[in-house]
Amino acid sequence: MLQSVSPTRFDLQFSIAGIPVRVHPLFWVIALLLGSNSGHPLMVVVWIIVVFISILIHELGHAFAFRRYGQPSHILLHATGGLTVPESMPWGGGYASVGLTPNQHIVVSLAGPFAGFAFAGLSLVVGAALGGDIIFTTILDIIPFPIVYIPAFNGILTDVFITILWVNIFWGIINLLPVYPLDGGHVSRYFLIQRDPWNGMRTSLWISVITGGTLAVFGLVFMGSVYMGLLFGLLAFQSFQMLQALGRY
Ligand SMILES: [Zn+2]
Repeated sequence: MLQSVSPTRFDLQFSIAGIPVRVHPLFWVIALLLGSNSGHPLMVVVWIIVVFISILIHELGHAFAFRRYGQPSHILLHATGGLTVPESMPWGGGYASVGLTPNQHIVVSLAGPFAGFAFAGLSLVVGAALGGDIIFTTILDIIPFPIVYIPAFNGILTDVFITILWVNIFWGIINLLPVYPLDGGHVSRYFLIQRDPWNGMRTSLWISVITGGTLAVFGLVFMGSVYMGLLFGLLAFQSFQMLQALGRY
């Protein structure tokens, strides 16, 4: 489904360290919609730039990990976020991807969220160097979350730093949840397949259904987030359909 995002003449194309990047115009539309409640128009622009850079850094984490195992890839930013697509290479008259071991797949999957955590860490260092006060708070009373306070420039820098930290830490943690096709879903699949080649796939999909369903309800009821409810409800349903398909064999 995702690989078939066809090129448009409004695509933004460039490459970073030899990794081709393509940005579909719908990426900007969705980023704008998600950021439109940021209040001040300047904050909407800040939001879009932070989301763009953060998703790019996340995908570059995947792409560099792929490269480490000899697998070229390209990055696509589109309506539902980012995607790092492994390249098929000419091989013996046909096309093939480099076969990664399950543990290499796990490293590639983890490299995305951890690139984001590293970026968040770096922005804390920069925030402190700019004279900001770093304060720790918690999300939902559980997840520790740092905030940088910089009173200069009417607090706009504070807002910039909070957006960077929020996007990279919160989304990174969400991405590590064992829900397919999030990065954590890939990690749990490759981990369980190694432990139990026969039932690992099925177990990972059940974990995905239960975690996704729980998060959909949690997001709707406790966070009042229709977006989280819809997103995780849909992912849980997709995993359930994959389980049904598995059951036929
Ligand atoms: Zn990822």
